[in-house]
Amino acid sequence: MDEQSGVILDAIIVGAGFGGIYALHRMRQMGLKAQVIEAGSGIGGTWFWNRYPGARCDIESMQYSYSFSEEIQNEWTWSELYATQPEILAYINFVADKLGLRDGLKLNTRVLAATFDEDRAVWTVTCDDGSTRRARFCVMATGCLSIPLAPNIPGIENFEGPLLRTSDWPAEGIDLSGQTVGIIGTGSSGIQLTPALAPQAGRLVVYQRTPNYAIPAHNRPIDEKYVRTWRAQYPKRRAAARMTRNNTLNNAGYRTGAEVTEDQFRTEMESRWAIGGIAFMYGFSDITSNPETNHRVSEFVREKLAEKIDDPAVAETLIPKDYPIGAKRICVDSNYYETFNRDNVELRDIQRTPIEAVTASGIRLADGQEDRLDVLVLATGFDAMTGALKRIDITGRAGRKLVDEWEAGPLTYFGLGVAHFPNMFIVAGPGSPSVFSNMVTSAEQHVDWICDTIRHLDAVGRSSIEVTEDAQDAWVRHVNEVADATLMFEGKNSWYIGANVPGKPRVFMPYLGGVADYLAALEDATRDGYRGFQIA
Ligand code: FAD
Ligand code: NAP
Repeated sequence: MDEQSGVILDAIIVGAGFGGIYALHRMRQMGLKAQVIEAGSGIGGTWFWNRYPGARCDIESMQYSYSFSEEIQNEWTWSELYATQPEILAYINFVADKLGLRDGLKLNTRVLAATFDEDRAVWTVTCDDGSTRRARFCVMATGCLSIPLAPNIPGIENFEGPLLRTSDWPAEGIDLSGQTVGIIGTGSSGIQLTPALAPQAGRLVVYQRTPNYAIPAHNRPIDEKYVRTWRAQYPKRRAAARMTRNNTLNNAGYRTGAEVTEDQFRTEMESRWAIGGIAFMYGFSDITSNPETNHRVSEFVREKLAEKIDDPAVAETLIPKDYPIGAKRICVDSNYYETFNRDNVELRDIQRTPIEAVTASGIRLADGQEDRLDVLVLATGFDAMTGALKRIDITGRAGRKLVDEWEAGPLTYFGLGVAHFPNMFIVAGPGSPSVFSNMVTSAEQHVDWICDTIRHLDAVGRSSIEVTEDAQDAWVRHVNEVADATLMFEGKNSWYIGANVPGKPRVFMPYLGGVADYLAALEDATRDGYRGFQIA
């Protein structure tokens, strides 16, 4: 592979998560010379970094896995409905070995800059080890949730005990038996970590700023019969999933909340609550757009959560009341709320009584209460969707910088390309369904489109493809219009709209129009001579 050798690769792929690994495989199948560059010391992306106890997927494993190879689908056997992080990491490594991809991976290397040479239509990529590589195409598979937030918590640098983050938990693990552990953050990561740590820790103190809605996972081991049925049905089920809003079979309801009686409403909600998982949010088609339906669903969930929590004062703090369900990323839990019934677990409401300072030995709250902590864990989230791309110094045509183009929020066409940045593709970019979908199969769809496009360019003897400004403007307008018709801007501190990062533009970043319509629109534009792209 090219290592400052002067060879021009066909493609440089940044990131070795589900997206980057599949891109390398597809490109090699096409006979292209491609290389993956990954900052981590191993592959797996999200599942390499987020090794905290309790980490697992919240889309069923039979669906949250590659669909491109029947052989892999039949060879790999998941053990639980929702696989744990170690199992998903083992799966990605199994795939990479099976497909012989290791020699195409450059690990422990961070891409710092990517610059487009207009005259030669070549990208030059510069890495943190000083090396440079050149390629015709640059594929950014850098992840939507790959840049941990450094939270602005006063005095955090003074803490003398171990300071851990869910987003780069020590690979060798850490024994917290008998320790007093503080967790800041109650998003999906905190909600998975808390019940996993509580039985081990001597005492656990959870610092909550905004309460979250979580639906029970009802995770369980899966048996042979379940796996056999899935395998027999895979082609049909995968095809059906592509026709849904989120690339996942959720048995989505077609009725609106407004058109059902109270009894029908209750029956639907009860049955989905009993099944558990994200499918709960697909009970009615207007949950995230009609405030009334949303209110009824939110009330139903509040009622259910209250039944799990013994102490009414704790329930009052833990149960969200002042924003619509789904407007902040819905969580899926295993015994999260019940964990607060344990004698060794305490909840601090830091919305009401903020953290005044982290001290050498713990946390002091604004009312003077002080918790002595042996270990502090940050489950404080990510600079989502744009964070990884904006941290690379990307220069396109005429010296244009991506950071400048995106100053007021991300601009893309289909979340795949950006005007003035020819031959650069994004996997799961802002403006695509991305985080509102099964991200493994969504990544496959993006990579397939990218690879088919490169094949097309080569077939017609052209060297570059670039999004037009008009097409980009129209797409961004459409993404915003769809989001404006929902309740998504009402989520408290939601990362969907950048509200978890001080100073970040408040723009709804993913595309909410659903995977099926998105893919149809993309296919339509592609068939229509790559409408919205300029090919030269
Ligand atoms: P990632 O897996 O994020 O990989 C991107 C890689 O790029 C990283 O390894 C990063 O180190 C590397 N990188 C970034 N910038 C650079 C650079 N400058 N130079 C070199 N390397 C770089 N999605 C779901 O659909 N279902 C789930 O159940 C689910 N669970 C999740 C649980 C957690 C804890 C988190 C954080 C996310 C979860 N997600 C889930 C979203 C998840 O990110 C995607 O499902 C998927 O794994 C993303 O794959 P990816 O290849 O696009 O990106
Ligand atoms: P998150 O949802 O952004 O949650 C971060 C938490 O930290 C929030 O509770 C936030 O409070 C709190 N926080 C942030 N900064 C703080 C500060 N300065 N002081 C006090 N509290 C602060 O991040 P996440 O839990 O890592 O999840 C991110 C996304 O990754 C999820 O939404 C999901 O898409 C994915 N994920 C999925 C799973 C899964 O179940 N498969 C698991 C983990 C992650 P506020 O809400 O008040 O900002």
